[in-house]
Amino acid sequence: MLLVTLSAGKAVNHFFGGYGMGLGRYGMYFDPTYILVLIGVVISLAASAKVRTTFSRYQREMARCSLTGAQVAERLLHANGIYDVQIAHVNGNLSDHYDPSKKVLRLSDSVYNSRSISAVSVAAHEVGHCIQHARGYVPLSLRTSLVPVANIGSTLSWVFIIAGLFFSSMYFLVTVGIVLFSLAVLFQIVTLPVEFNASHRALAELERNGILASDEIKKGKKVLSAAALTYVAAAAAAILQLLRLLLLYGRRRN
Ligand SMILES: [Zn+2]
Repeated sequence: MLLVTLSAGKAVNHFFGGYGMGLGRYGMYFDPTYILVLIGVVISLAASAKVRTTFSRYQREMARCSLTGAQVAERLLHANGIYDVQIAHVNGNLSDHYDPSKKVLRLSDSVYNSRSISAVSVAAHEVGHCIQHARGYVPLSLRTSLVPVANIGSTLSWVFIIAGLFFSSMYFLVTVGIVLFSLAVLFQIVTLPVEFNASHRALAELERNGILASDEIKKGKKVLSAAALTYVAAAAAAILQLLRLLLLYGRRRN
């Protein structure tokens, strides 16, 4: 739930999908390691189904504070002495994110004007990222600096791998491709502490500022835990994909 996730994550996922399909047909018949890719796909689909059902369940339940997601975001930012972050509306579903480069917190349709437990929790999570940024939380800076690297890694790794396989005299290119892919995997792994920490901060802030009561906090925690699960699934899928590359090509060096 951060811009960097959306851009880099999309590229990484695109690569997983593209690669899986491209060599997948061949792999399904001759390559048992393809099962690793399928496990990754199943984990990702299960996590995304879980976040959608949990979000929509608590979207129907209004928080007693009667504040919208946007109002909660503003209140929590101010409570933390942050006045230079702009709160904006963004189209889409679960497209909420904080853009550290522009200092804009963008909340989606189902969060910005909604007073539901889900909306309030997601808004607070995004404020969690703003607080990380304002306080110089190291994993966030690391992740932000990894975005271009992860994008390049996920986009170019397959080019190197295919080229290395095609020109057998240049098999070292496969290794270069795997190293590039590892950088994209590293990005997914660094994302985990950033996301868990933002949710942890969100729940603490909602409680401290009296926005959600303790019974509501438990529900908000379910929403944010489900969202965190999608990042765990993405990281697991990336690691499985890397493992597959290593099993397939790791030992065939010149
Ligand atoms: Zn997030």
